[in-house]
Parts: sequence; C-alpha cells; structure tokens
Amino acid sequence: MLGKLIIFAAPSGSGKTTIVKELLKILELKLAFSVSAANRKSRVGEEHGKDYYFLENEDFKNKIHNNEFVEWEEVYAGRFYGTLKEEVKEKREAGKNVIFDIDVVGALNIKELYGDDALTIFIMPPSVQELENRLQNRSTDSFEEIKKRIAKAEHELSFADKFDKIVVNDKLPEAVFETRKI
Ligand code: 5GP
Repeated sequence: MLGKLIIFAAPSGSGKTTIVKELLKILELKLAFSVSAANRKSRVGEEHGKDYYFLENEDFKNKIHNNEFVEWEEVYAGRFYGTLKEEVKEKREAGKNVIFDIDVVGALNIKELYGDDALTIFIMPPSVQELENRLQNRSTDSFEEIKKRIAKAEHELSFADKFDKIVVNDKLPEAVFETRKI
C-alpha cells in the first residue's frame, strides 16, 4: 500500500523541524523524511542527502526545466527550495508515510495535488515576539536573515486556517504529543 503524506509547515523558528525530528524517532508511525532540494549553502551540522540535497543554482534550474519537482518555490529572494517527485514516489512505494518540512505555500500546493492522501499540519508559534527570540537564540542566521524571516512569518501566519490541523508550539513535549496523536 502507498504511504500517506504528512506535511508540516510553519514560520521559520516555530519549532517545526524539531517536532518533525521527534516524530521520526517513533518507528511505529513508519515515517520517512522528504529531503528537499535547496540552492542554499549547508549550515553547520547539516548533511547533503539527509537535511537537504544542496544543489548549485545551475543544477536546481535544470531540475525545474526537466520537470523533476512536485513543487518548487523561491522561498526567499534568490533562495530556491523544492520537493523532488522521485523522493516522494520512492518513499511512498516503500510503504512509508512521507513527512514534509516545507513552507506554507508548498504545503498547500502538495495538498492540492494529493488530496485525501495528504494531511497538512500548521505549527503555530505562541507569538511573533517568541519567534524572534528563538531565531536569535538559534544564532545560525545573520541579523538581516532574521529580519527577512520575521517579515515572512507574519505573512505565513495568515495561511494557518487553510491547514487541516493547527498545533501551537508553546512547550515542545506537548506539541510533539499533540502532533503524534494527529
Ligand atoms: P531553511 O533555510 O530554514 O532550512 O528553510 C527555509 C524555508 O524553506 C522553511 O520554511 C522550509 O520549510 C522551506 N522549505 C524547505 N524545503 C522546502 C520545499 O521543498 N518546498 C518548499 N516550498 N519550501 C521548502
């Protein structure tokens, strides 16, 4: 049987990536992470093929041209991210439920394509101020980058009610428990 698609989206800094990583540890959920392609450089600790397929601009554009993406987007100016068709197909055919950590527009596009095979979950930060604190504490992004992410977050929050489920991430263990139940 083909696996289902479980798509997480949230403003950057909402804790979505941490929640997804916690869920992946629960073996009975039979989850496999959909590794996206991106044209950005890897951050410290990130691995090619595990966190992202880090591609050169040229490679990314070729894949767009060859229609290899389920969806792709310029999430920030000059920053491209996309879900590869082969990635989803392979994991679903292996009977895995594919779990996605992508942006809100990408999430809603995938839902549109896969309908009832897909479940969309929006991870909501307790507040925009808390989001800003988290991005600053993460200290992986420059001041400019954080400003860009906050501006985008405010826009993304307006999409929350288009998702199948909303989970507020105030305390991480509770948010993990809630998403696990869903
Ligand atoms: P980051 O650079 O922090 O890893 O990710 C930036 C944003 O791009 C996040 O909101 C992340 O979820 C989103 N993103 C990652 N992969 C994809 C993808 O395949 N498609 C889309 N549309 N967004 C993605």
